Amino acid sequence: MGSHVQGAKSLLAANWKMNPASASDAADLVRAILEPYKAHADHVQLAICPPYPWLLGVAELIENTGVELGAQDCYWEKAGAFTGEVSAAMLTGWCQWVIVGHSERRAYFHETDEDVARKAAAGIAEGLQVILCVGELDEHYTAGQTEPVVGGQVRAGLSQLAADDSPHLVIAYEPVWAIGTGKNAEPEHAYKTMRLIRHTVGEVIGQGAARKVRVLYGGSVNAANIESYVELPLCDGCLVGGASLKADEFSKMIATVAEVYGHIPSTT
Ligand code: PEP
Repeated sequence: MGSHVQGAKSLLAANWKMNPASASDAADLVRAILEPYKAHADHVQLAICPPYPWLLGVAELIENTGVELGAQDCYWEKAGAFTGEVSAAMLTGWCQWVIVGHSERRAYFHETDEDVARKAAAGIAEGLQVILCVGELDEHYTAGQTEPVVGGQVRAGLSQLAADDSPHLVIAYEPVWAIGTGKNAEPEHAYKTMRLIRHTVGEVIGQGAARKVRVLYGGSVNAANIESYVELPLCDGCLVGGASLKADEFSKMIATVAEVYGHIPSTT
């Protein structure tokens, strides 16, 4: 299993999207995950990405637990007349992570590859770890166009980054047709696309750098299927949406990932 990023734990990033609806539900969800996580912290790096208004409350609850905090988006300017936006710079006091280019932002808020590249560069410049999301639409998948589409998104997303940025970059392969649909990708398809992603990163910012970029799978990952992804040689973890809102199921997922990683010998 020498192709996981060296020395890294498996990364589980919980994308809560616009959930839960209240601060107290958000607090209950964090509390329910914290206790089971403790037993697996040696093997699993956990990043929780709540909506902006819940960041502060979640930050207080996870203090000194090893759990990390992420935002679901950021804007590339530091400050100014950008009503409704939150800059990467504003997140740094609370968050270690930021997600950029999620397919829901691309589809509903018309984010372009260029926007996503600027967000990725701003996040890293401000000292955040960036999860850059890429993935093909159903029509691309059925037409056998996954590789050119995802390869193009990766090239565009990296266009403002340099080799030095690679330790701060995670790329999440999330086929759009698999997000929130219950139709998770075949592990073989995920593996081939993650291999393409790593290859593309190597071409754009160099092979040495590519080895430091972590690659995740996301799209209808749940307790029943997570093992089939995290055991893939090129998969450094998962980005989880719906299942991360169910404390019992998510706790099982953390335990499964820890079990798989506990058995992967270190490559350092
Ligand atoms: C996501 O939103 O990033 C995601 C993977 O969602 P789900 O797990 O619900 O498919």
